[in-house]
Amino acid sequence: MSLSCALILLLLATPVWADQSESAEGNRGLNAQWAGQLILDIRLTSFPRLANTNIRVEPFHGHSDYFQARFSILHFLFAKRMQYVIRVNDDPGIQTVPEDAGRAILAHELAHVQYYASGSRIHLLGLIRYNSSSYRREFERRADLEATQLGYAQGLKNYRLWLYQHVSAKALLEKKRDYLSPEEIDAAARALTNPVCLRVDER
Ligand SMILES: [Zn+2]
Repeated sequence: MSLSCALILLLLATPVWADQSESAEGNRGLNAQWAGQLILDIRLTSFPRLANTNIRVEPFHGHSDYFQARFSILHFLFAKRMQYVIRVNDDPGIQTVPEDAGRAILAHELAHVQYYASGSRIHLLGLIRYNSSSYRREFERRADLEATQLGYAQGLKNYRLWLYQHVSAKALLEKKRDYLSPEEIDAAARALTNPVCLRVDER
């Protein structure tokens, strides 16, 4: 693997040592605790295939991302059992995310984890394409569609509406490009309930 490919893969991987010791300070950890409780419930009801998957929830600090799904690079390289990480921004503003929106975006993140955990871990090397805007758009929209299919359409719409108010103008353009908008979520939900209409619309 070339150095540039390795660096891109590291974008989606996370070092296992950026861990619980930081999460105990101040607000750090509060958002992750909140998300961890929701994730327990969402896994049970919507992601039964992840029942025995090793998923850690940890805080991070960022300006345009509020939730991320990663995998442990050390487990990827050396361990028999993979470990996946859902990272939650420690910004106190996250407490204003409506509950259904929080559940929906965590379902989106769990859809990523389910993709990471499917098949051989070698397929994770394909994530080096995440640096390509077309691949990233497809990757993120696929997770949105999975969350929509699982019944989180309304919550996901609410999350996007919240997000649009909490990112910079530049990040907003990226969010609208890479993820389904509320209108697109509505269209996807309608198509899922009436696939015949989807085929007619596509002509
Ligand atoms: Zn995502």
